[in-house]
Amino acid sequence: MATSLIDRLEQNEPALTELAGLGWHTAVEISNALVQNTTVNSFRFNSCGLDDADCVAIMQGLTRRYAYQVNNLCVTCRPRTKRISFARNNIGAVGAYEIANFLTSPLSKCHSESKSEICAKCGNNRLLAPRFMEDFIRIELLSNTIGDEGVTVITNAITAFATSSDDRSHYIVELGFERNGISDIGMMPICQMLTTHNYSLHTLHLGKNDFTPRGVVYLADALKVNKTLETLNLSGNSDIGDEGTVILAESLKYNTTLKTLLLKKCGLSDHGYYLLIQALYNGHSPYLMSQSNHTLTEISVCSRFSHNMTLDTVPLRTLLSWNNMGTSTAQRLKLVSFFCSNQGIRHVHSLSLDRKLFPYLLRKIWRVFREDMHRRSVNKLEVLFKYIREMPSVVES
Ligand SMILES: [Zn+2]
Repeated sequence: MATSLIDRLEQNEPALTELAGLGWHTAVEISNALVQNTTVNSFRFNSCGLDDADCVAIMQGLTRRYAYQVNNLCVTCRPRTKRISFARNNIGAVGAYEIANFLTSPLSKCHSESKSEICAKCGNNRLLAPRFMEDFIRIELLSNTIGDEGVTVITNAITAFATSSDDRSHYIVELGFERNGISDIGMMPICQMLTTHNYSLHTLHLGKNDFTPRGVVYLADALKVNKTLETLNLSGNSDIGDEGTVILAESLKYNTTLKTLLLKKCGLSDHGYYLLIQALYNGHSPYLMSQSNHTLTEISVCSRFSHNMTLDTVPLRTLLSWNNMGTSTAQRLKLVSFFCSNQGIRHVHSLSLDRKLFPYLLRKIWRVFREDMHRRSVNKLEVLFKYIREMPSVVES
């Protein structure tokens, strides 16, 4: 007879490190079985039809589990919670309150003095040291209904770690709040969290919510001081539009950590896309700057921009991907792309390039093309070099 999930949890089956779903049990039954379990570190309750009461039961089980670990397990034996995922359920603000309770409750345990006792798992006399719990947790709530109220209590709980002088018991590294009906009101506590919780959060998903350029203003202010966030997903917030996108892009001049920005289906127009590039490259042509003015290396905008019909020859996405190749390689790739394009030839002819840059550019071009001549379009280069030969003063200066 197959062993039930409850038995496997209670018997601490070593292979059971991830719990996926409830396996025909109720949330309360699973919650009780989790308290003394020492194997599971990843909790995935995605698409389980959970409501607030289920979420409360599970989170209370996890809170009791922390308390059990603090009092009974040594640092080596306690499982470190990595992921708590409730994607695609019916969890509202009530469930969110219990998640917030879970996040703040271990903090109070950290105040207790470390004790030297027999560990319930390994049997060794070891220090039970809750202050070193240090869990790196991802919390996923995609497609629920926590709304502004729910997101406020969760992010306020995280902000509370940051403003507390006590040792941290766990670190939130990723938060998933897509499709939860978050408006500008909910963006305020999120951005407060980004401003104060400046040590572990590297990924934030805010796609498909309901905030406007007003919410983006809060976000832009937070990004100017945040030093941990590397991935920000805003896709599907169609009210952001050109206005919000430009506000965001301007703030990136002051941000030194963000690498990936997802802006699909955010109501960006052709003009907004142009403004985005202008902001990211300080109003210069992206081809002439050795690096952009920020740390982005990956951007996702509407697919109709990926072929870049109106602006330059290389999509913004490709330009940004060159940012992480180092200055000289990025510069080399940009020059090759630029001067091998009809756009590039036109720019040279119309003298829209800054003349002062010419000697520098020509040295670069010569080095690049000497190596790549056999692979590149020679015809276009001949036009370019003909132009250069006709302006010897520029070359010599
Ligand atoms: Zn132990």
